[in-house]
Amino acid sequence: MNYRHSYHAGNGADVFKHAVLALVLVALRKKDTPFCVIDSHAGGGVYALKAPGEFQQGIALLWPERARWRAFADYLGVVEKYNRQGALKFYPGSPLIIREFLRAQDRAVLLELHPEEYAALQVNFDGVKNIALHHADAWSALRAFVPPRENRGVVLIDPPYERADEFEQAALLLKYGAKHWRNGVYMVWYPVKQRRAIERLHRAVRNLKLAAHAVELTTLPTDVETRLNGSGLVLINAPWKLLDTLREVLPPLAERLAAQPGSGKVSFVDLTGAVQAA
Ligand code: SAM
Repeated sequence: MNYRHSYHAGNGADVFKHAVLALVLVALRKKDTPFCVIDSHAGGGVYALKAPGEFQQGIALLWPERARWRAFADYLGVVEKYNRQGALKFYPGSPLIIREFLRAQDRAVLLELHPEEYAALQVNFDGVKNIALHHADAWSALRAFVPPRENRGVVLIDPPYERADEFEQAALLLKYGAKHWRNGVYMVWYPVKQRRAIERLHRAVRNLKLAAHAVELTTLPTDVETRLNGSGLVLINAPWKLLDTLREVLPPLAERLAAQPGSGKVSFVDLTGAVQAA
């Protein structure tokens, strides 16, 4: 386990993932009934930003103009909370974003395997009653939390993809989820590099026969498969109207995060439906 998210915190992929996560959580709050958020690969929670760093091509681009990114105000409001002095010094990861949207009746379950990241989570969530931490391997432990007793909520699956089998592991978890909690919202992050691995994941999602889409935000042309060209999110059972919102708000974000003029793109793939040949 060499991956440390601090090197990547606040990069374009984080901005995309966290902006969408905040929109999902805002949608879940529209009903009073409690919900549960399960974060499979939580990370430590908060990251100190130091230049040079990937965040310079991510959150640092939006930060000075944050007032005009009204569609992402809820997400950017969380980043602001950790940077009250005005200078961008810290980046809140998914656990802290999730925490901001939980009401008294909601709860979250966070899993993290790296001992130092887990220790950071313990410090960041000391005394927080409605967030349970688990020092565990998500690929084997997550099943124990699905379905949550609330029968409402979202599972965020956000592995580092440092192991060759992580696309497949994510697909296996979704298969389990589709069997045991068909009405859960699922959000799987993946890197846009090699198309073949992505297509296998998409095929596995289609086979679940649930309402599902993949949204990809790329900041570089995707013809070079050896570098990170952007990232994707598989969204299963997306909250009502979320996809319409994303179609509207993501293209300007992709343009802003583009690594070259004109290289920011957003694409949607409908993964709902018929069984595809393996
Ligand atoms: N979800 C975080 C966020 O959005 O801020 C970022 C997570 S980072 C991409 C992936 C995290 O998964 C790392 O902190 C890593 O230590 C952890 N990790 C790696 N393998 C894991 C496993 N099998 N189970 C749980 N956590 C794991």
